[in-house]
Amino acid sequence: MDQIRVCNAFLRKHVPGFEAAVFSGVAPRIGIRETRRIVGEEALTGEDVLASRRRADSVARGAHEIDMHAAGSAHTRQEIPGGSYYDIPFGTLVPRGLRNVLVAGRCLSSTREGQSSARVMGPCLAMGQAVGTPAAAFGNVIAGNGDVRDVPLGELQNLLRLQGAQI
Ligand SMILES: Cc1cc2nc3c(=O)[nH]c(=O)nc-3n(C[C@H](O)[C@H](O)[C@H](O)COP(=O)(O)OP(=O)(O)OC[C@H]3O[C@@H](n4cnc5c(N)ncnc54)[C@H](O)[C@@H]3O)c2cc1C
Repeated sequence: MDQIRVCNAFLRKHVPGFEAAVFSGVAPRIGIRETRRIVGEEALTGEDVLASRRRADSVARGAHEIDMHAAGSAHTRQEIPGGSYYDIPFGTLVPRGLRNVLVAGRCLSSTREGQSSARVMGPCLAMGQAVGTPAAAFGNVIAGNGDVRDVPLGELQNLLRLQGAQI
């Protein structure tokens, strides 16, 4: 609540349009940074993040530091050297052992360190685009007995680039 008061005062004072803004309510549930993660065809690791690892099967990118919050005020942070970014491969969004299922967001297949970077909103949005696009565009491939693993990755990547995605 203290932070909300500070943010509210900042918005009213410094951001045009917020002069008369009033605080109307707060989320009814607390948010949780680390939730369940799938076991996917591949996993994003902390090493991938810190090495700014590029991937041929990239469908999204992340650039947030490793950012693990533990009980109390314990907090581990490791910035990506050079302020660079890493690729998020398609396989981290494909649950192992399931057919025609894709996931997006903080539940991606990853180690704890990898998730602590990729869980922030930008990559989560990008992952959503990366799995929504094949679902919409490659129905001919995944329908019937098909599977998301059969989606032509190069065509998907071209489509994502045409949409302006950073991959
Ligand atoms: C305290 C806190 C601070 C954070 N600070 C930042 C920050 O400063 N910057 C940043 O980028 N990120 C921050 N994050 C992280 C970021 O907000 C989340 O990791 C991110 O939003 C996760 O996105 P998601 O799409 O995976 O999940 P969510 O955003 O949680 O979306 C999942 C959605 O699915 C819905 N849902 C759940 N179950 C069902 C169901 N059965 N049927 C239909 N819908 C369902 C939920 O209602 C929800 O809308 C913070 C997180 C927390 C908890």
